Amino acid sequence: EAKESGRNRVCLFSEQREAEVHSRTSLIQELADAIQQGQLMLYYQPQFRPDGSLHGAEALLRWHSPSRGMVPPGDFIPLAEETGLILAIGHWVLNTACRHLNQIQRSGLHDQFSLSVNISPRQFADSDFLDKVEQALTSHAVPAQRLKLELTESSLFHDMDHAIEILEQLRKQGIGIELDDFGTGYSSLSYLKRLPLDALKLDGSLVADVVSDARDLAILRAAIAMAKTLSLTVIAEGVETNEQRAFLASEGCDLLQGYLLARPMPFDKLYALIEQATPQRSQDPTSELAHQ
Ligand code: C2E
Ligand code: MG
Ligand code: MG
Ligand code: MG
Repeated sequence: EAKESGRNRVCLFSEQREAEVHSRTSLIQELADAIQQGQLMLYYQPQFRPDGSLHGAEALLRWHSPSRGMVPPGDFIPLAEETGLILAIGHWVLNTACRHLNQIQRSGLHDQFSLSVNISPRQFADSDFLDKVEQALTSHAVPAQRLKLELTESSLFHDMDHAIEILEQLRKQGIGIELDDFGTGYSSLSYLKRLPLDALKLDGSLVADVVSDARDLAILRAAIAMAKTLSLTVIAEGVETNEQRAFLASEGCDLLQGYLLARPMPFDKLYALIEQATPQRSQDPTSELAHQ
């Protein structure tokens, strides 16, 4: 009797396991096809200065799967990373962001506007990474200053000497380097001071309870002070309330990003926002004439 139900359980378990393996395999296959079939999209979440002016935007990957609907990046990027598909996906992301940067550049609307692109550990470790970045910039005629790369600790702390070398090459060209998800890992001051970085992105989880939790507040203050000591720009992610925004601004955050200010949006919406944010060139006599 007991043996019987035990066997049944084993059987149920293996059927379930088989179904998992099957769905994983088909997910991998669908993801491999997604690029060629034009199912990937970049959304952009704007970043603002505390005075409300538009600074730039972060590129965030979206997968519109015909069979699964909208698949959030958290559900497929880890798998892409594991299988190596991230190399092809990352290449597409970089080139798409550079194509959009070229459109912004040619519009003449906002000569400082930059896009930040997330780079996964496997992409960063790829021996062709530097070449691929340079190629994306040159083939779309984009000045390096318009591109920023977001990296996480897991990319950088595995082989610090190698990471430093790559980061120095990127920065020499003018590409900004940002440490993403700061506050979720183990970064110590001694690591951070060795890395050639331009900015720290405070993770949303640190920002979330900062108004109500004294310990989160203390951590955030320490993180900002440390970033300032190292002359890094401080970007706060996940800003959802006015209290958080006011507080982060008063603590000296340089840039703010979050649902309160703007949600991730398709490129045409971002472009419209850049047009709107760019002051009319009233000093330009030709544009004055055009209005008369
Ligand atoms: P991340 O780089 O830390 O991006 C920030 C995430 O927070 C985004 O989630 C964004 O939509 C979300 N977010 C923005 N504002 C708020 C807010 O006010 N509240 C809350 N709760 N969330 C907010 P998303 O788009 O789902 O991306 C998740 C993660 O997937 C990203 O985290 C990044 O690690 C990864 N990812 C996204 N696009 C790419 C990509 O092109 N390449 C790689 N390698 N990873 C990517
Ligand atoms: Mg990011
Ligand atoms: Mg982040
Ligand atoms: Mg993240």
